Amino acid sequence: MQTVTVLGATGSIGCSTLDVIARHPDLFRVFAITGNSQVERLIEQAAACSPRYIVLADDSRYEEAVSLAKQHGVNAQILCGGDALEEVSSAPEVDTVMAAIVGAAGLLPTLAAVKAGKRVLLANKEALVMSGALLIDAANQSGASILPIDSEHNAIFQCLPDDFQYGNLAHSGISKILLTGSGGPFRDRSLSTFNEITVEQACTHPNWSMGQKITVDSATMMNKGLEFIEACWLFGTKASDIEVVIHPQSVIHSMVQYVDGSIISQMGNPDMRTPIAYGLAYPHRIDSGVAPVDFNTIGDFSFTSPCFERYPNLKLAIDACIDGQAATTRLNAANEVAVAAFLAKKIRFTDIARVNAETLDKMEPITVSSLQQILEQDSSARDMAMQVIRGLSAC
Ligand code: NAD
Ligand code: MG
Repeated sequence: MQTVTVLGATGSIGCSTLDVIARHPDLFRVFAITGNSQVERLIEQAAACSPRYIVLADDSRYEEAVSLAKQHGVNAQILCGGDALEEVSSAPEVDTVMAAIVGAAGLLPTLAAVKAGKRVLLANKEALVMSGALLIDAANQSGASILPIDSEHNAIFQCLPDDFQYGNLAHSGISKILLTGSGGPFRDRSLSTFNEITVEQACTHPNWSMGQKITVDSATMMNKGLEFIEACWLFGTKASDIEVVIHPQSVIHSMVQYVDGSIISQMGNPDMRTPIAYGLAYPHRIDSGVAPVDFNTIGDFSFTSPCFERYPNLKLAIDACIDGQAATTRLNAANEVAVAAFLAKKIRFTDIARVNAETLDKMEPITVSSLQQILEQDSSARDMAMQVIRGLSAC
């Protein structure tokens, strides 16, 4: 029986995680669930999975949560704030932490889980993009295992051989990691109309149902850029070891290419419960509720390479990956600000890449290593991105 904390329980990954857990009451017990603004959903989840703790990101909805808990007969203790998030991530009773808070907000609780030596199921890619070295070093020190939940990284993990050594592709005869992506909803849209892309269009992914931020990131392919950086940290690879391949059907979730010409891929329907179940039960396999791919109806698979003119954010992310930690931290921060501004209809779709590029351009090169330096870079890049956005609005 594993005891699990689900960070970001109310989100898309959080809901899928609780769905898989509910299928296996003999294997998993929920210790804590956390959420930000969807208090009602959080209390309903607590009524269904009986956690010991419910954590709200801040105390602004505490009274409401207490009253809803009473109505639903929920006995869990309700806590609020960043310290409480870290406590339920590192508590001695916890074996496994699902890190599924979106964005930089997930970094500190994820780091707390890693430092406490937990099995960390990492969905929150932004945490790794902003502080990969810190998380990997902390895992090496504490003995924590970081299992990738992002479907591509989970696929790569499944295609690696048992003798894989972190950072040493040659040891296992691996020549390349092929990171697949659908290309998003605008893969075939005329570039001359990109200025007119609406929030509603960008928030509709052809294959996956996900939270708003990652859906917009998928439309700009910043998501693939963040995943490129994520792959480097998770597997210890260089940027030159990774190739991005567009595969519109999202059935192959990524591949590992070997020196003898073999390519091993992982396939499945685009449903995050498969990688979540894999992470929860690793090294065993359990039912995830996902139907297998039906090859009689699936149709053709196709593949192309990404065009950077269409996806400038992907190029920015690959360049930042080569530049180093300060650049990836800044890019992630700028992108969070730019996507929020786009969702609030303050900037255009094409401005997202512009804000990201200008933010990086306007900041001096620097080396970062400590958590404090990373948080400082995150904060100053957010300020810079806001400044760039104000400049755009003034035009
Ligand atoms: P979502 O927006 O649906 O959910 C985000 C969760 O984070 C919610 O529970 C929300 O309450 C919580 N949250 C938001 N801001 C917070 C804050 N300031 N403090 C504390 N909690 C906060 O997002 P999602 O689609 O579930 O994605 C979660 C993470 O998983 C992201 O990093 C995303 O990139 C990654 N991921 C998602 C998918 C997917 O299919 N949805 C796939 C791969 C990776
Ligand atoms: Mg992914």
